[in-house]
Amino acid sequence: MAYGMSGGFAWDPSRSRLFWLGSPALLVPAKAFLNTVKSLDGYDLLYTVAKSHGYKIASKAIRSGALGIIPADQTALYSKLIEVTSGLGVGWVEVAEQSKEKMIVNLADSLFAHLAGGTGKPECHLFSGLIAGFSEAVYKNPYRSREIGCVSNRNTLCVFSILKDTESPPPEPITSPVLQIRASPIKLSEVDRSILTSEEGWYFWYDVPCFLINARIFVSIFNILEKRHGHETVLETLQKKFFEEVLPDIQKTVKSPRIALGYKPHPRDVLDKIISNTRFLGFGTPKLSRYKEVSQEGTIIQDHSIIPEISPQKSKVPLCDFPKFLYAIIATACHKTKYKAIETMCMARNESSCEFQIIRENTS
Ligand SMILES: [Zn+2]
Ligand SMILES: [Zn+2]
Repeated sequence: MAYGMSGGFAWDPSRSRLFWLGSPALLVPAKAFLNTVKSLDGYDLLYTVAKSHGYKIASKAIRSGALGIIPADQTALYSKLIEVTSGLGVGWVEVAEQSKEKMIVNLADSLFAHLAGGTGKPECHLFSGLIAGFSEAVYKNPYRSREIGCVSNRNTLCVFSILKDTESPPPEPITSPVLQIRASPIKLSEVDRSILTSEEGWYFWYDVPCFLINARIFVSIFNILEKRHGHETVLETLQKKFFEEVLPDIQKTVKSPRIALGYKPHPRDVLDKIISNTRFLGFGTPKLSRYKEVSQEGTIIQDHSIIPEISPQKSKVPLCDFPKFLYAIIATACHKTKYKAIETMCMARNESSCEFQIIRENTS
């Protein structure tokens, strides 16, 4: 499959902005994101946030006419909306059964189940919540989705049963504005294909498995985690997951032929290249602006930062923690010694760009 071509996906290279069904989206390193949420809060959060935002995303896409189907044709609309979720890079999706009372949706090659391993229980909560919200947007009834079979529980497919939820109130009508896509469907050059690939319905940024998530779902999940567990705990967990679970993938990338082209490149050049190519993840447009040869420390300037842009209010503290830890592990992999990153300027504080210092951790 071409990268997201058929999956409701668009890319605006001028701002390094990703869109899915017309709303800003992010390609997130799956292990860092999912395992942070799961270890702090379990699964319910992924389901409930994805469900409420799924309703809004789908309602907006339906009203905009972007799906090319009239809202009255609920059957066709539902199939199209559900099948377009294959573009999220979490596996291949199909509607197996559909009526106003009950829907069955299948997910093959679930990334969530693959990353979780054989845990003996359902693992695809984010996807389950999203399709519950989509069901409400199409049929205007409250629904509850349950994963009745999961690859993590020895099923060959992940299977979701979506039933009318008689206890919940009906969903609120949506009055948000119309779709504003200023981006074209993604067309990657040969060079880009060495950075972003799609395999088995999943996406890889270099060697890092990623999936596409609506940017507001992403921000909401972190806001809730911070309210429940405190800012410091969330940061510690996120940092731990990045270093334990994503760093090995980046170390593999640094050693791979697509980076080390038969000679030993300068760590600065490798760092510069990998940092600037994080723009394909949709967090912003970063570049290595200063690099000190002696200390091997540097400064990254990131423009068009998405997290400050969509966060509900201005903040006194920098907000771009997810890219910050990503830059720290990239610097660590490039220099083969532990680095940290500090966000010294952030657009969330009305500063012109986000700025990160990458600093060698004191190993003495
Ligand atoms: Zn599953
Ligand atoms: Zn920032």
